[in-house]
Amino acid sequence: MRIDPEQLNQLLRPVFDLAEKKNAIKGARLIAKGLNAGPGAACGKVVFNADDAVEWVKRGETVILVRIETSPEDISGMDAAVGILTARGGMTSHAALVARQMGKVCVAGCGALGINYSAREMKVKEHIIKEGDYISIDGTTGEVISGKISTRPSEILQVIVQKSLDPEKSDMYKLFRKLMKWADKRRRLKIRTNADQGDQAITALAFGAEGIGLCRTEHMFFGEGKIEAMREMILAETAEDRKVALSKLLPLQKKDFTEIFRVMKGFPVTIRTLDPPLHEFLPHQEEEIEKLAGIMGVGAEKVKAKIEELKEVNPMLGLRGCRLGIVYPEITRMQARAIFEAACSVQKEGIEVHPEIMIPLVGNVNELKQQAEVVRLAAKEVMENYKEVVKYTVGTMIELPRAALTADKIAEVAEFFSFGTNDLTQTTYGLSRDDAGKFLDHYYEKGILKEDPFQTVDQEGVGELMKIGVRKGRSVRKGLKIGICGEHGGESKSVEFCDRIGLDYVSCSPFRVPIARLAAAQAAVKAKKKK
Ligand code: PEP
Ligand code: MG
Repeated sequence: MRIDPEQLNQLLRPVFDLAEKKNAIKGARLIAKGLNAGPGAACGKVVFNADDAVEWVKRGETVILVRIETSPEDISGMDAAVGILTARGGMTSHAALVARQMGKVCVAGCGALGINYSAREMKVKEHIIKEGDYISIDGTTGEVISGKISTRPSEILQVIVQKSLDPEKSDMYKLFRKLMKWADKRRRLKIRTNADQGDQAITALAFGAEGIGLCRTEHMFFGEGKIEAMREMILAETAEDRKVALSKLLPLQKKDFTEIFRVMKGFPVTIRTLDPPLHEFLPHQEEEIEKLAGIMGVGAEKVKAKIEELKEVNPMLGLRGCRLGIVYPEITRMQARAIFEAACSVQKEGIEVHPEIMIPLVGNVNELKQQAEVVRLAAKEVMENYKEVVKYTVGTMIELPRAALTADKIAEVAEFFSFGTNDLTQTTYGLSRDDAGKFLDHYYEKGILKEDPFQTVDQEGVGELMKIGVRKGRSVRKGLKIGICGEHGGESKSVEFCDRIGLDYVSCSPFRVPIARLAAAQAAVKAKKKK
């Protein structure tokens, strides 16, 4: 009970040499502060685009990728870099979510950065930092420091993830193991992870995850060569064109699901149908547009016109989540087929599978009814084909206020709920998850808010909706399984809240699993004391 679970970050991530950092700050090298979006310490040479990050790393450099904001085009660069620094975006922005899932150090929404891509430099107050200059970023505090500071790797990671250190040779690891054992003895909440790649799932399992609480299928297309098929599907002009794109996506999806089912060996896997905020997935750069036009066999102008047509004023409130599957049911059908083909094949190999299909951004039970029907029909067809019976459930995310308020109606169809507190916070507060970072500082300074509601659940508002959701949901379906998969699922105060309101599990990014285990145990101890 004496350990703040968040302090485990210090054990699970690389840290700075403290004396060097102190000196740097004394020497006025602290140039800016952003959001502490991905804990840990990273130091490297600044690059301003993903291709450079990949190139520079290939020639042996260590780099920090600096972007105004990130999008799927930046994934390879994010993967290559030791750290990511963005000028825009909040705690649940693309950069923050992806970095945390990858286990990368990240400082996001650092508004003081004046990034000039064409000049390959950024101005930060009176400082000018050019491509190739060293910077150090602290993803635990959000600090951006000019120049080099040495980092020290985490012993726990060397044992658990890199497997480069013998567990019996690390006292630190042995203490960590003991602490986790104590925690697991006490906690009531199950701990799952948000993962959409096999390697993330492996890391999460090593950290003690007991299932996947959120597999964002749109993130499965982040890999090299996959994003084009996804874009082709989004930009398809006719149903026929979409069919062609979907037939390319099906085998990719099936392969990824197969890997995940194999890795998870019988643990439950919640797979969410496509939820791509269009602005994140449309190509931005000229060369990307030209490449895509080539693949689609049309002129770049046509692709540009389609992108223009699809542009939304409020993409976060636009054609996202289940709305996409309602407009184009063939997308949901393809995904369901891929899930069940993978599930049937893996089950045939003798590995248990527990797929849970989750429909996102539902506000009205009829949306869920329609999508669940598509899923169930595809499941039936695949299982008949494979002569295999896979047990599965269909549930929904509760991430819109209307979903929480009508949870009794929704529970008539949903076999499980998972709170998507990123969107639930965004829509309850009416606060853009991508833009709030820019002005929330004023709220803290003026004492209007104490904490970022995207980091820790706003218990008074969002939490109240969650309580309504739990009560109404279980009033119709006794024992309804309910979890949380928003970023709050790995934050200790929010975990305690989830325990208190009776959720069954929390799901968080792989590196936060140990934090959630400890937080869940402390919540259980506190609850017992109160009784
Ligand atoms: C959420 O909204 O909390 C959620 C988990 O979904 P996403 O972050 O993908 O919108
Ligand atoms: Mg969401």
